[in-house]
Amino acid sequence: MNPFRYMRVETVPEALAAMSGVALGEDVGTRPRLFAGGTNLLDLMKADVMHPVTLVDIGRLPLTQIERLPDGTLHLGAMARNADTAEHPLVREHLPMLRAAILAGASGQIRNMATNGGNLLQRTRCYYFYDSGVPCNKRAPGSGCPAAHGLARQHAILGANEHCIATHPSDMCVALAALGATVHVESVRGAREIPMTEFHRLPGDRPDIDTVLQPDELITHISVPPNPYAGHGTYLKARERASYAFALVSVAAALELYPDGMIRSARLALGGVAHKPWRDLEAEAMLAGKPATDQTFADVAAFVLRDARAWGGPALPEGTPGNAFKIPLTERAIVRALQMAAAGIVTNTGQDAFNANEGLGDGRNDGRHEEHHDVPDGAGDGSHPTIPPGEAP
Ligand code: SF4
Repeated sequence: MNPFRYMRVETVPEALAAMSGVALGEDVGTRPRLFAGGTNLLDLMKADVMHPVTLVDIGRLPLTQIERLPDGTLHLGAMARNADTAEHPLVREHLPMLRAAILAGASGQIRNMATNGGNLLQRTRCYYFYDSGVPCNKRAPGSGCPAAHGLARQHAILGANEHCIATHPSDMCVALAALGATVHVESVRGAREIPMTEFHRLPGDRPDIDTVLQPDELITHISVPPNPYAGHGTYLKARERASYAFALVSVAAALELYPDGMIRSARLALGGVAHKPWRDLEAEAMLAGKPATDQTFADVAAFVLRDARAWGGPALPEGTPGNAFKIPLTERAIVRALQMAAAGIVTNTGQDAFNANEGLGDGRNDGRHEEHHDVPDGAGDGSHPTIPPGEAP
């Protein structure tokens, strides 16, 4: 049992004051931590991974608003629960892809506790990160990355290096990246806005730092600008089992279509493949002005994976612990998600699921609520270790 101090704050100024003494650059494992839903942090404390000296409970802060601003921007309070966000009428109407992404994550019980701000700050579920008995550059900087040559089924194929190949685990953040969301933060030094695509970091040589959020900053809300994608936005998630599992790969794809089927604009972001939600602006530009055809989608998928690299150990008799399978899986998932977006199918998973196969060929869906799982042969062979505790969105 590691002792820690607990304090509860009721207002934003109290929270900012409580965190104002945190030194920038202070060790991420031991500094004071903001605590809201607790769906990830408490697991990390119990697993001996994080040892905050102080928990600042912000669970009562009045940051739960979900509202539409006059210009059409949706304001999502940082303390709004994931479940409340997904079910809010404004989100259902204007951001169905975001709703699908939230509902694809975790379990109903966890979504009832997890907050929007906390979702952004959840940490990787790399098996080694949770095992304090082995090296891990993210947990103990400079100790090494055993995943790079070990068990890497859940790990990155884009933007990784030998220092860390972990993936960011959120579903919600992938949709937010695709939708061009902005993260709003405050500290005693003032307020600032961070584009969602710049909020999370690639590992570089400091994989212990997940985001650009400074340790004294509080996320107050997320804003999502108006967009034309409500009718043609898809969140596709491929995972090891039907529910309550992190993405092997996920795709947030959205299309704005002309009546003749040509693409006016597009959004494309990936989850489960990098240290951050992976949005590819060049691929989006490639889609604009092209017909919404399988060939267009295949060309773009290949382009997105132009720098993909597999990691992990050598093949074993019972299968490979590496993640080479994720490259073709991701390519197929991108094509499938774009096909679904063109057909107006919101997701392949969760309570809004449609049978993807029914909707791909002719642009129609029949409204049947079936789940579809795009996991390649051998992906569910049991050769991977148990996913760490605390599955969260
Ligand atoms: Fe640690 Fe990252 Fe390597 Fe996992 S991938 S063992 S989190 S350094």
